[in-house]
Amino acid sequence: MLIDLHTHSTASDGALSPSELVAFAYECGVRTLALTDHDTVEGVAEAADAAETVGLRFIPGIEISTMWGGVCVHIVGLGVNTENPALISKTRELCQLRNSRASRIAERFSQLGIEGMLEAVLELAGNEKNISRLHFARALIAKGIVNNEQRAFDQYLSEGGKAYVPAPWGTVAEAVELIHSAGGLAVIAHPGRYKFKQPWQTDALVQDFVRAGGEGIEVVSGSQSPSYTQQGVIFATQYHLLASLGSDFHRIDGIRPKPGEQGQLPDGLTSVLTRL
Ligand code: AMP
Ligand code: MN
Ligand code: MN
Ligand code: MN
Repeated sequence: MLIDLHTHSTASDGALSPSELVAFAYECGVRTLALTDHDTVEGVAEAADAAETVGLRFIPGIEISTMWGGVCVHIVGLGVNTENPALISKTRELCQLRNSRASRIAERFSQLGIEGMLEAVLELAGNEKNISRLHFARALIAKGIVNNEQRAFDQYLSEGGKAYVPAPWGTVAEAVELIHSAGGLAVIAHPGRYKFKQPWQTDALVQDFVRAGGEGIEVVSGSQSPSYTQQGVIFATQYHLLASLGSDFHRIDGIRPKPGEQGQLPDGLTSVLTRL
């Protein structure tokens, strides 16, 4: 009876459609699943239908992009009402920002002599309204320019990379407020993944998030080292946050854990599921 509260589909930068994702998660032993696509809830209706068919508990979710301390920080929303007008209008805006950033990234590639990147990512993406840097990474691999995603990010797409374009995201507090207005719980995604210049900045981020009214933190994440779980437990305990867990699954042949495979929560924490 595995739980996975952080996954992606073709509605953003995942490789499986929402219904394929639900079927695959079920096959992997997951019985409680949240779909948390980047800045969109467009995959939720299809996933909810598929979940009902296979008999799996489904939680509608989202992963909102924000900027904090010069780093892109992700805030997951769980149990959001996907019909909420504020959520619909904001996600539309965020997807448009994604795609204008994509055009600018493609221009940078063109200046580097790598042509046709916009066409390549649009063809690769399952949803042409939601283009991610991960699509650019996949396109670079397909063109034989790099041989893995990490190289694509390090050389081209991350801050300091040759085709880096700063992200236009809003604040952590705005993301928390949006999730709340859609009736959801806000959760800091993969706290162990942020590459801050100073180690204390993760603590300052969690404090800011708590001040903004955020309620949860991913203690176990497929996107952070399993050894980080200990620190996650400390944050959850110290700041009285609900504990969440998720694989951050994107694709079957990826390096991250399969759905549910990230591990389950250590004892002694209050799971975010108690409030969903
Ligand atoms: P974006 O949200 O469009 O800025 O792109 C970020 C996406 O790329 C996230 O979904 C990550 O899963 C993925 N990503 C970020 N950094 C890396 C990295 N160093 N290696 C592989 N994938 C990454
Ligand atoms: Mn992603
Ligand atoms: Mn993330
Ligand atoms: Mn994610």
